[in-house]
Amino acid sequence: MSMRDSDTQTAPAPGPVRPPKAPAAAEKPSLIGLDREELAEALGAIGVPDRQIRMRVAQLWHWFYVRGVSDFADMTNVSKDLRALLAEHYTIARPEIVSEQISNDGTRKWLFRFPPRGAGRPVEIETVYIPEEGRGTLCVSSQVGCTLTCTFCHTGTQRLVRNLTAEEILSQVLIARDRLGDFPKGETPANAAVPSEGRLVTNIVMMGMGEPLYNFDNVKKALLIASDGDGLSLSKRRITLSTSGVVPMIERTGAEIGCMLAISLHAVRDELRDELVPINKKWNITELLDACRAYPGLNNARRITFEYVMLKGVNDSLADARELVRLLKGIPAKINLIPFNPWPGSAYECSDWEQIETFADVVNRAGYASPIRTPRGRDIFAACGQLKSESERMRAKERAALEAATPAAS
Ligand code: SF4
Repeated sequence: MSMRDSDTQTAPAPGPVRPPKAPAAAEKPSLIGLDREELAEALGAIGVPDRQIRMRVAQLWHWFYVRGVSDFADMTNVSKDLRALLAEHYTIARPEIVSEQISNDGTRKWLFRFPPRGAGRPVEIETVYIPEEGRGTLCVSSQVGCTLTCTFCHTGTQRLVRNLTAEEILSQVLIARDRLGDFPKGETPANAAVPSEGRLVTNIVMMGMGEPLYNFDNVKKALLIASDGDGLSLSKRRITLSTSGVVPMIERTGAEIGCMLAISLHAVRDELRDELVPINKKWNITELLDACRAYPGLNNARRITFEYVMLKGVNDSLADARELVRLLKGIPAKINLIPFNPWPGSAYECSDWEQIETFADVVNRAGYASPIRTPRGRDIFAACGQLKSESERMRAKERAALEAATPAAS
């Protein structure tokens, strides 16, 4: 029964419902990542009376997303019996943190392991926290691996294992806030690099592993929960979804999620973009920019960010810069110039700093704010395009070592 149904119900609530048999601990479904209607259904399914459901949903929502609890036992204004019933059937436990690495520049990278929950083997993904003056940005993953094979991106060398669920996407935000002490009663670790005041996770960027628009439903659900005003309450203007160019989903992103949009552009000619961002063969630059022009809510205060990785001798000429300006004419846009972050086996080099600055001058003079994104977290492979699950990284290392040790066939 939905919450709305329970609001209008006048008949006496039915007698106690015998709850279904409790699942084994490892198989318990999580209540994190459910929308309010699903949470209401989950409560109804274990026998919470209809007349209480609306109130219980509001209570739980507050505990999960405002107070940040990960154990039903901590929900002190919920009766002991209900806490026990919830714990018997569901979980709100955080997934496992396999590792936490802290860069010299204060960037943090976590490797998380999610339980299979009936979907094959456990999976690992990475999430990155980038602290800056006045803001803390969390770079969130949407898939384990990626089906796309952008040639400058390390994740693109890891085949897709599966989409992340809304719970798993949201858990990245919850654990980051746990670890940084960003929930009430949380303690920020000594010497942690964080904004000097206010919230510690102020922005979310869907720029981690995977193409978020190939996992639209789960990403949408997670972002709507993250921006819900009674919970995590992150402004949609502080949530940016980055796509490589899944054109048919761009309009829905604006209409149904309403977040900021970023485009991994990286090239201004189709033949080069076909190589760097192969999805371009499906939807070319013209189609992509047409979809951008039609992005719901686009205006000078809500600009689209175009990401442009600087690859030496590949896409960094002044002719490229001028063509970029020409292509984006009429689109309220920002351009992020990203010095290429190398990874083992990558075929590219980062453009020379002087060349990046000259390129930036051309786009700045055309009126586009185009900050050069200072590389962050390179020493822990946390920078743009460097994410990959650790087990994959180890396998790649082992393969390389094996190849090195194997005598070449004559
Ligand atoms: S840049 Fe994004 S879409 Fe392209 S391979 Fe990397 S993770 Fe996938």
